[in-house]
Amino acid sequence: LHWERQIRASAAVRRDDGIAVLVTGAAGFVGTHVSLALRRRGDGVVGIDNFNAYYDPSLKKARKALLAGHGVFVVDGDINDARLLEKLFDTVPFTHVMHLAAQAGVRYAIENPASYIHSNVAGLVTLLEACKSADPQPAIVWASSSSVYGLNDKVPFSESDRTDRPASLYAATKKAGEEITHIYNHIYGLSITGLRFFTVYGPWGRPDMAYFSFTRNILQGKPITVYRGRDGTDLARDFTYIDDIVKGCVAALDTAEASTGIGKQKRRPAQYRIYNLGNTSPVTVPALVRILERYLKVKARKNMVEMPGNGDVPFTHANISLARAELGYKPTTNLETGLKKFVKWYLSYYGYSRRAGGKHQ
Ligand code: NAD
Repeated sequence: LHWERQIRASAAVRRDDGIAVLVTGAAGFVGTHVSLALRRRGDGVVGIDNFNAYYDPSLKKARKALLAGHGVFVVDGDINDARLLEKLFDTVPFTHVMHLAAQAGVRYAIENPASYIHSNVAGLVTLLEACKSADPQPAIVWASSSSVYGLNDKVPFSESDRTDRPASLYAATKKAGEEITHIYNHIYGLSITGLRFFTVYGPWGRPDMAYFSFTRNILQGKPITVYRGRDGTDLARDFTYIDDIVKGCVAALDTAEASTGIGKQKRRPAQYRIYNLGNTSPVTVPALVRILERYLKVKARKNMVEMPGNGDVPFTHANISLARAELGYKPTTNLETGLKKFVKWYLSYYGYSRRAGGKHQ
């Protein structure tokens, strides 16, 4: 098989003291950064991604090429493919799975509900089944989302807060994921750590997210649509820089206990944990736009419209004391610094020349 040869030739096989990680959604935004961080310290990494067209597949291909240069091969496949997963686990004895593959985005669910069930529910179960049967059983760290807090209006959000009022199908499938992974921990002894990411941004980011599409539109002189709450208040997000999220992911992998394994002598129950990974300082969307205007040196044309009620929540704000205490998680990049790095990447990636009037791609 083509990918088997590639994996053997790549740096998938770990150093003696390192871990071997299967990263799902490796050609995605977070997956690319986590894979690079693991490789940098010598861990073995293999990726899987279905390169779907939810957003620009050429960006995913470019991330794949970047990873290949660092010894990470990304298998083109779907996490619903049980046979492929079985072969992957047969080829490499993964110690950990970093599960980041998902159908992301809240608004897309209005037109494409099945895609969320396919990747975030059915795909998750297929992956967990493969982990359950693998020998050794890998510890699993996976991406949940701050969206599970839904219409919760008690801030900041703590892991013990209610999560029974999702505002989108995306949020509902992430919440379902938290419950499904609990079953695999409870019955099969899989070690599970769920990370509730809060609005992650940075270089190699996702074109469907506001900070990215605002940048594109502002540079092209097109208007941007900025949502406002029904009561006229600005939307706010606990924007979290990618490098901080990566540190949280790596810490979660390092603290994940090995699974106990069904049928084996159980020394102690395998862990089931959930952590917020946020920045703890929400910023309003108009304030985000002002920072972008400053770095892009262009004034945005804003259309302020009332939030249409298609999946967004008014605000997010993480309490991160649990992750700080148990993972040593400590975000260090504020939105100003993080957006500066994003804009720098954006201008170089798209070869944007301000002097030439800005030809995009
Ligand atoms: P992303 O869309 O860039 O990455 C996900 C990757 O998974 C994509 O490359 C996609 O092609 C792949 N994928 C999707 N379905 C698949 C399937 N069925 N089989 C194989 N590959 C599949 O998104 P991201 O921003 O990197 O997010 C990573 C994870 O973090 C996701 O689970 C997402 O829900 C979660 N998350 C992200 C944010 C954020 O702000 N970026 C916030 C909260 C949670």
